[in-house]
Amino acid sequence: AKVTRFAPSPTGFLTIGGLYASMISERMARQSGGLFYVRIEDTDKKREVQGSVEDMIESLERFGIRIDEGPTSEGEETGRYGPYRQSSRVGIYQAWIKRLLEQDLAYPCFCTEDQLNEIRDRQQAAKENTGYYGKWAVHRNMTIDEVREQLTDAKPFVVRLKSPGSADNRIRYVDMIKGETELPENDQDIVLLKSDGVPTYHFAHAVDDHLMGTTHVFRGDEWISSVPIHLQLFRILGFRAPEYGHLAPLMKMDGASKRKFSKRKDRDATANYYRNQGYPSLAVTEYFMTLINSDYEEWRLGNPSEPYTEFRIGTDKMNVSGALFDLNKLNDVSKDVISRFSAEEVYASAAEWARACDAELFRWLDGDKSYSVNILGVGRTPEKPRKDLAKWSDVKQAVAFYYDEWFEMEAPILPLPAAVTDSKAKEIVRDFIRVLDLGDDKDTWFGKVKNIAETHGFAREMKQYKKNPSAYAGHVGDVAAVVRAVLTGRLQTPDLYEMMQVMGDSRVRSRLGRYVS
Ligand code: GLU
Repeated sequence: AKVTRFAPSPTGFLTIGGLYASMISERMARQSGGLFYVRIEDTDKKREVQGSVEDMIESLERFGIRIDEGPTSEGEETGRYGPYRQSSRVGIYQAWIKRLLEQDLAYPCFCTEDQLNEIRDRQQAAKENTGYYGKWAVHRNMTIDEVREQLTDAKPFVVRLKSPGSADNRIRYVDMIKGETELPENDQDIVLLKSDGVPTYHFAHAVDDHLMGTTHVFRGDEWISSVPIHLQLFRILGFRAPEYGHLAPLMKMDGASKRKFSKRKDRDATANYYRNQGYPSLAVTEYFMTLINSDYEEWRLGNPSEPYTEFRIGTDKMNVSGALFDLNKLNDVSKDVISRFSAEEVYASAAEWARACDAELFRWLDGDKSYSVNILGVGRTPEKPRKDLAKWSDVKQAVAFYYDEWFEMEAPILPLPAAVTDSKAKEIVRDFIRVLDLGDDKDTWFGKVKNIAETHGFAREMKQYKKNPSAYAGHVGDVAAVVRAVLTGRLQTPDLYEMMQVMGDSRVRSRLGRYVS
């Protein structure tokens, strides 16, 4: 069973990349019967953003990522290996530091900023690698007495790793995504504990990944260059290292070129953006699946409601080098996802979204629930799914004309078909009102529309008209178009007959009647 984690620093909102990595981690754990936990890496209090933890937890949950252990959205914690906030674990890290000091695998370093700068200048002058390592690490070989002396002077110090590595060596590991990987060994005596007694990320994360039982780590590939440090730390601490999978960042289109998302500049870099636009969570996770496995889309078509158990990463089916997060593609996937919803499900989700994001739409949907469900059901049959909605923010434009409140205030002046003058349109509508009976079946109703066409010198059938357009003043479609325009203020709508059934007799008569009065 795999134990995986998401270990964000609480410095902002959950990013789309963070969501992607979390979904991969959670699915890997889930599929193996393991667990997925969240750990907050908040040792750098200066960079912390208020509300960030809550946002991240809530966003993960909203997108269907189940957190087995870690902070909860109620501000508490669940799980056996907590606390899950690093700021609450400082005592634990210090205990491990003590042990490393005793084993001479770490040492206190009293170098001041000035001393460090001086070392760097000398390294640069000598054209050697910079940093605190090897012969340059002046405090590495202090005697106990020297250390004691510094301590009695109450000098501030950090604790450094006594790195046994050499930059001339290369290390290898097999990355779950990038495959066989070779990197220079770590030779830097990196800081493990800062002078305020708080650990660095490298040290804290190694201790935690071990104590929390982590077996598999998925994270951004900006961490790949830290792998030598991490593997060395695990070895020195006597821990078994987890397996690593490093994910290339998701890319976006910017004009004609691809680039990374920018947390600061791009509104669509956060998971919240997709939520606020009203993408169903399932659409986003289904879309991620297509990036992870290029065969997924086809599989899903054949298996619309089965759970997917073939989750694999790092294969030739995965886009491993900076997958494009393509909004058009997301829209297509989302339309498919929504097309599988029943009218009631569309209603429930759209209303929930509108409650938070669009007060006017919410008023319409909430005002007459059964009317709204019927509206959303127009043209939505299991045999012929309707792919008109990509996100809940598309609903308003799609349904506005059904609601009298909108229709009376906002319906545009009629866009009539070219063949029809205003007075002709009024005659047609009068004829239509005279024969209108919503109890008619569709054929009977359409027969009546054809009769009206004929009365006005229009072709009864499209076919006839196409054969000899000059013989007619218009065709049956023009009659339907006039009625459609008067009823909805639009040229294009779902099926006219079905629409009228949903609108009901009195609404239909009142809209038509007002036009001819
Ligand atoms: N706290 C690190 C970050 O914010 C986590 C890196 C890791 O997953 O090891 O990216």
